[in-house]
Amino acid sequence: MIVKGKKVKVGGESYQIQFSDDPRTVDPDKEGQAQSLDGCVNYNQYIIGLHSKEPKVHIEQVFFHELSHAIAEKYHLTSLVDETGKHDEAAMDLMSMGLQEALSSLGLNILELLKAKK
Ligand SMILES: [Zn+2]
Repeated sequence: MIVKGKKVKVGGESYQIQFSDDPRTVDPDKEGQAQSLDGCVNYNQYIIGLHSKEPKVHIEQVFFHELSHAIAEKYHLTSLVDETGKHDEAAMDLMSMGLQEALSSLGLNILELLKAKK
């Protein structure tokens, strides 16, 4: 089951955040490819997909990781994107861990923010 959350804006584009309870359906373009994902950013459909059955902190880190991809892509962050267009995954992991820790320490419940209000 896929549950829609809020939308997050990057460079004027709104990405739909969505939670999938099945890691094989996190990326709508890769369904049926037997690929399990914790998260994805889909530039075609403007979706940030997250696997909802992971621990809270991990989901939040994955969100920042995927958001970092969207930002790097939109703003052509050349220090994080090589000449073939491949993103620096390690840098995005570390940045996402730092953002998750820092914003949580300010009392922000990131996961709740990402979910749509009922
Ligand atoms: Zn990545």
